[in-house]
Amino acid sequence: MSEQRPFKTEVKKLLDLVIHSLYSNKEIFLRELISNASDAIDRARFESLKDESILEDDPEWKIKITVDKEAKTLTVSDNGIGMNAEELEQNIGTIASSGTKRFLEQLQENKDSLSPELIGQFGVGFYSAFMVAHRVKVVTRRAGSADQGVAWESQGDGFYTITPTTREKRGTDVIVYLTPENEEYLDEWKIRKTVKRFSDFVEHPINMDIEREEVERDDQGKPIEGKEPKKTITEETLNSRKAIWQRPKNEVTEEEYKEFYRHVSHDYQEPLETIHWQVEGQTEFRALIYIPRKPLFEMFMPEQRDRGIQLYVRRVFITDKCEELTPGYLRFLRGVVDSSDLPLNVSREILQEARAIRIIQKNLVKKVLDTLADMKEKNPERYQEFWTGFGTMLKEGLHTDFENGDRIKELLMYESSHLEAGKRTTLAEYVSRMPEHQKEIYYITAENRTAAANAPQLEAFKAKGYEVLFFTDPIDDWLSQDLTSYKEKTLRNIGKGDVDIDSEEEKAAKEEARKQAEADNKDLVAAMKEILGDKVKEVRLSKRLTESACCLVSDEWGMGVHMEKIMKAMNPDTPPTKRILELNPDHSLIAALRQVHAKDAKDPKLAEYTEMLYDEALLTAQLPLEDPLAFAKRISNLMADSLQEHLK
Ligand code: ADP
Repeated sequence: MSEQRPFKTEVKKLLDLVIHSLYSNKEIFLRELISNASDAIDRARFESLKDESILEDDPEWKIKITVDKEAKTLTVSDNGIGMNAEELEQNIGTIASSGTKRFLEQLQENKDSLSPELIGQFGVGFYSAFMVAHRVKVVTRRAGSADQGVAWESQGDGFYTITPTTREKRGTDVIVYLTPENEEYLDEWKIRKTVKRFSDFVEHPINMDIEREEVERDDQGKPIEGKEPKKTITEETLNSRKAIWQRPKNEVTEEEYKEFYRHVSHDYQEPLETIHWQVEGQTEFRALIYIPRKPLFEMFMPEQRDRGIQLYVRRVFITDKCEELTPGYLRFLRGVVDSSDLPLNVSREILQEARAIRIIQKNLVKKVLDTLADMKEKNPERYQEFWTGFGTMLKEGLHTDFENGDRIKELLMYESSHLEAGKRTTLAEYVSRMPEHQKEIYYITAENRTAAANAPQLEAFKAKGYEVLFFTDPIDDWLSQDLTSYKEKTLRNIGKGDVDIDSEEEKAAKEEARKQAEADNKDLVAAMKEILGDKVKEVRLSKRLTESACCLVSDEWGMGVHMEKIMKAMNPDTPPTKRILELNPDHSLIAALRQVHAKDAKDPKLAEYTEMLYDEALLTAQLPLEDPLAFAKRISNLMADSLQEHLK
């Protein structure tokens, strides 16, 4: 029995958009349908490795395109895995991915600027058929199932029907009822051109019945008058089926590489880098790996994350979910690895254990890191682009890939106090700029560049001309535990612990003055600690301030400000980290407080101003004030007092 069912709201919205908003480049619908057919065959072939009965009486994998000029339909058929009623409902009536909603919002916001090629990226390729159709029908039969088949049909109007039907053999037909303005897709040459352009490397044959009229000729080769031309139909394969990764590099054109990238990544942009190589000897494999230009949408969808590099064994597709092939921090890579060492019927368990996979991974990581290092040297602009998109992911490798830690360190890039906003430096470049007497590499963690550049903690370093790296990526704070040194130079967080940047001579020269300052401020420091009580861990004199009156720092092992915010965001009950309030003894405000304290240790101004100083330190550290109202009140009073003074 057939029954009208409504699409899930999201699908309906998507359909509306596909049909009404995305006009250009409609021909990609054919690529999407062929790509689905090819995937379906790959899956059937994989299942048949374990269960030969799936092949039944249809052992030759193929995709077939048929046109019916009278009915004005174009049909894409495959003898792949097919679907049962449940799968059909699941895959085509619903969109499983939770990212779809977000995609739709984006689409609606940028209707004009998003190309329809984007569609494929979100796993909604099938619906692109509605760009050229007023009605789409799917007839399908699941391989290896007793069901006779099932049909799905919709006019793209918000409803679809599912009806039991009979399909003779396993596989799927997608029947596209073309709208009058898209009848060009009934034309053999249009189809040929589109297949060649978008699907030439599809491994399975894409066939079409080609009808030719042959005029009958006499012995002299002259057409016989009055005789009707003879019609012949031959089935032709439209695609060259060349597995592009199997071909020598110099035989593959730039355009072919790009098209194949679109096929494996569903990305609408061109790749940033193409890496094609082969390894022979102990292990044998070929690989064609791409670095995308920007993170693909699916990289933000947890449920799609594992759709990475495709693993083939001797040209047979095995899986695109082989986590062992690439470490997590390189999950942005797309492409194909084809191994000659694995058995075809390789199982998940074998993959996890396989030595061949481990060797491939090792080789692949090295190749990719080498390529990036090369790009950084020879094409710094392109490398910046890479870093903007994937730097954060690559950094994770510092924590997870111990073996390649040194290589990854060479690839890191940071903004710094010596560079204009937006420019970044490598650690090697930083070291090359270090003045002779600078012994360590300095960095500060902050929420953004402005906060880092204006942090009071930077003052003494600026005064000395020492460069400070800005760790502004949320992951930086956490990674600093893995990035403690670079080429025997310690990396030091200048917002933590006891900073000492003076040379031995300088220290000796300042020793007297320092002792004096400690003695002069001893009572004030103690009084302020008493006023602030538990809010701070300690009050002490600073060695890092030259201009500001005060700042907050963490102790050596304490959590940085940035890290604390992240922890708080994850768990609101995280107790606030107690910090150290550092004072600049040379600042006129501290000098004045010293006098107030000396005159009358119980003066209420002392408590009031100490609290204000602490709030100021919180603000410059971009930490929330504990009591903003009290702060505002104090500031108002202070301004009123000062104006009264002014009027006198
Ligand atoms: P994607 O292919 O990106 O997952 P589609 O919207 O194109 O998204 O297809 C949705 C799902 O429908 C596919 O993942 C697949 O499970 C199923 N499907 C589509 N076409 C076929 C086909 N020809 N044979 C078998 N299953 C198919």
